[in-house]
Amino acid sequence: MTQPIFMVGARGCGKTTVGQALSQILGYEFSDTDQTLLQVSGLSVAQIVEKEGWSGFRDRESGILQAVSGKNKVIATGGGIVLSAANRQFMRSQGCVIYLKVPANELLRRLKAFPEEHQRPSLTGRAMTDEIEQVLAQREALYQEAAHHVLDASRTPDDVVFAILQQLHPSAA
Ligand code: ADP
Ligand code: MG
Repeated sequence: MTQPIFMVGARGCGKTTVGQALSQILGYEFSDTDQTLLQVSGLSVAQIVEKEGWSGFRDRESGILQAVSGKNKVIATGGGIVLSAANRQFMRSQGCVIYLKVPANELLRRLKAFPEEHQRPSLTGRAMTDEIEQVLAQREALYQEAAHHVLDASRTPDDVVFAILQQLHPSAA
């Protein structure tokens, strides 16, 4: 398989961590839409949102998604990438989409341990627990719709990578 592999899921589900580890095992190049956006624009997510609103951020993100897509690549996306029907369609048609599913309480635990608040502005302005539950409720169906494979990603990163390899190459694992 050479088609790109897209990691989707909520903030903190492990798209960057697991995607990077997976790319190393497969010998694929790794890209992260959040990191690429930062490199290309020289602005943080918070700064783009402040200057251009969430819609400006989403437009830039869609451009980056298409720019980094390619053969032999693992691409970690931002949590809101699935909000755009065009992005969902693009990922599904270009490659293999993996949804890393993690329950709200585990997402909260991870984000509290590593808040990185400067990079991750609140989407709703609400308390973190409420926000995670609300955002998950809004997006769960979209992650499911976009995904070719849904993985339980509440396990360790190594276990999640192994489970993905089993899904991609059932006979080899
Ligand atoms: P995302 O890119 O989906 O927002 P990250 O890969 O940045 O998520 O992970 C968010 C935080 O959770 C990081 O601090 C990371 O070390 C931690 N983390 C990621 N995957 C796991 C995992 N499977 N188990 C425990 N912690 C994890
Ligand atoms: Mg990430």
